Amino acid sequence: MSTVNESTGRSSVPEIGVVIPLYWSAATIGTLVERIDTVLKEQRLTYEIVVVDDGSGDDTWDVVESLLPRFPGLRGLRLTRNFGQQAALAVGLEATTANWVFTMDADLQDDPAHFPRMLEAAHAGADVVLAQWTDAVGTRSARLSSKLFYRVFNRLTGVGLPPGTGTYRVMSRRVVDHFLALPDRTEFFGGMIAWFGFPMTTVPVVRHERTHGKTGYSLRRRYALATSALVSFSTIPLKIAAYFGLIVCAGSALLGLVVVVLRFAGVIEQAGFAGIMVAVLFMSGTIMLSTGILGFYLGSLIKATSQRPVGVISQDTGSRLEQ
Ligand code: UDP
Ligand code: MG
Repeated sequence: MSTVNESTGRSSVPEIGVVIPLYWSAATIGTLVERIDTVLKEQRLTYEIVVVDDGSGDDTWDVVESLLPRFPGLRGLRLTRNFGQQAALAVGLEATTANWVFTMDADLQDDPAHFPRMLEAAHAGADVVLAQWTDAVGTRSARLSSKLFYRVFNRLTGVGLPPGTGTYRVMSRRVVDHFLALPDRTEFFGGMIAWFGFPMTTVPVVRHERTHGKTGYSLRRRYALATSALVSFSTIPLKIAAYFGLIVCAGSALLGLVVVVLRFAGVIEQAGFAGIMVAVLFMSGTIMLSTGILGFYLGSLIKATSQRPVGVISQDTGSRLEQ
């Protein structure tokens, strides 16, 4: 880790970086760092582990400090308060200079024993290798909501995020650099990385059950994350009202026609109630439609003001004009 490059006089860049957000992780972080150290030493890889204490209320930070003398490759960052996992990840990624960067959870559910297989897949030509769980882990409602989320997310955004994947992954330097250049990098991490479109693959892994403490994500927090992920990647929800409005307007116009025909055919004597219903439906449809139209304008405004790159370059031959 601390080898110094003689020509530059700087510490050399570690081959592997591992970024881990910590939230009430005092019970697990010691074991996790030890396991990572063992695996990477076996592989003879230089590494740095960046742990980011995201305002834990337990003695997570004290444990991190107590680990420092034993692991020179360990670096601790402590946030002033709880900013959330996505923000903690972004802070950790800003701190590492490594060539390949792992991100993972702190609760021992993600096992560092998979590092070698994931790196192998990366070296075979993928910029992003996602650990994909082969088994069902977590409560029924968590599993169900996650499944639903992936479906809706992929459908609305067209990003193509493999289901059963989470934070646990390894990314090439160029992916990390692209991520760090994003203006809104505290949004949904997994979605952002997939959105770039660099070669991405999955490696099947067994995910352990959580053995210590409880999840840092309540259902409410999960819901908040899911909605903000959808909103930051898709303007379709803004426009839904327009489609509904159109359907209601068309439906009520048709209904109105039916009422008129029945009236003149003498089937009904007075339009009365039916007439009022048609008018009410048509008006509500018009209001929905105009709300939806506002959504279209808002959508293009969001697109124009978002500072995300318009496209991501994967290869560049460089300018070949004579100087
Ligand atoms: N986490 C965080 N800040 C938070 C909540 C969670 O940094 O406010 C981290 C936590 O330390 C862990 C990861 O996010 O490394 C995943 O959290 P958790 O295991 O609680 O979520 P679950 O696996 O239940 O989805
Ligand atoms: Mg977990």
